[in-house]
Amino acid sequence: MTSFSLTAAAAEPRLTVAQRSLQRLKTVPGLAPRYADHDKLLTLDDISGVPPLVKDDLNVALAHLEPKAADSATWLFQSGGSTGAPKVGYAPTGFYMQGVWDHWKALDRDDVFVNAWGAGRMWGAHFLAAAYADLAGCQVIALGSVTKDEYADWLSFFVTRRVTAIGGTPSVLRLWFANARAAGLTLPDLRKVLWLGEAWHAALDEDIAAVAPNAQRWGMFGSTETWVVGTNSPQCPADCFHTLPEQLVHVGDGDLLDFTTLNPEMLNPVLRYQTGDAGELVECPCGNGPVMRVLGRRDNVVQVRGLGLHVDDVLAQVEGEPGVSRAQVVITEQRGRASSVEVLLLTTAGFDADAPQRLRQELLSSTFTLSTAFLHDPQSFQVTATSALIANERTGKTAGFVVREQP
Ligand SMILES: [Zn+2]
Repeated sequence: MTSFSLTAAAAEPRLTVAQRSLQRLKTVPGLAPRYADHDKLLTLDDISGVPPLVKDDLNVALAHLEPKAADSATWLFQSGGSTGAPKVGYAPTGFYMQGVWDHWKALDRDDVFVNAWGAGRMWGAHFLAAAYADLAGCQVIALGSVTKDEYADWLSFFVTRRVTAIGGTPSVLRLWFANARAAGLTLPDLRKVLWLGEAWHAALDEDIAAVAPNAQRWGMFGSTETWVVGTNSPQCPADCFHTLPEQLVHVGDGDLLDFTTLNPEMLNPVLRYQTGDAGELVECPCGNGPVMRVLGRRDNVVQVRGLGLHVDDVLAQVEGEPGVSRAQVVITEQRGRASSVEVLLLTTAGFDADAPQRLRQELLSSTFTLSTAFLHDPQSFQVTATSALIANERTGKTAGFVVREQP
């Protein structure tokens, strides 16, 4: 059983854009054979019959197509790949934010908005948020990333400037609110917390309630390839997003989501593009119709000494421990083999100092992959309390697992 975010009546006038993406993909030498049997995309059924694109496929296509914006600059953004030369995605100035603005009014002219998404290094979020703020006509403080010694000064600047809105990845927002809370500082004028880039962290709700009791969350969902697919407002659950009419979302096998862009300005040929996220289409409790509920990634299985480790299961187990606000699995590899696995625990007040050893024993006895992989060197599996998890310096995102290469 498959389903689409839009009805046939809503989607079909725009399917010419999907048709154009198909024709472009058919010109890519590495991809043409798979599309040989597909010529016309006139209905939703035709779309669901096309083979999906996975991340590398789109990079192969873009390397060949080198799209150019019709009447603005063409911006290059890093698309996937955390090592070596960046893979490149394209977007025109404006970053398709008019379509977002038409359906989602998170900011207005009276807002004083801190853009705390990191800028530079070919990451798109800061610029996308700037384009959105431009449409809202608000005041913008283009802050980007700051270092850990700078939070206190900037937070007092926010108070002085009567900042009403802040936006960033949930990992970065947590740093802002945790620092404010630790300093006993409040942001009485703050009403809006915009977020994009990773799943909402439940721990943020608690910090926001203490620091800015009038603030509510406003979320966007998307990727560097698709740009913004959907949005939510404070009345919607944090994992549910109302999809834009220019984005066709399809739920395929294994609940895997794929995305087809119906925006005629889109430079990336996004046709059944899979991000690795799973989801379902449900009615939103806010009453504004169906939403895409994101169930998380389906690729959170990493190989440890030839055995699959389900990272989400490990994280769920340790994050249930009192005083653990978040956890991360760090795999250290030497010549392609896992030399050690460490589970880092980001702790808060109420954390029991004996818990790491106990959790380590529990994980070893309950997780087949760990007990088998580390049978002969159990000391290579550790659980450690920490004050900071490992974040991506470029995006500020904190992944559930990190693989490090040991020289
Ligand atoms: Zn809703």
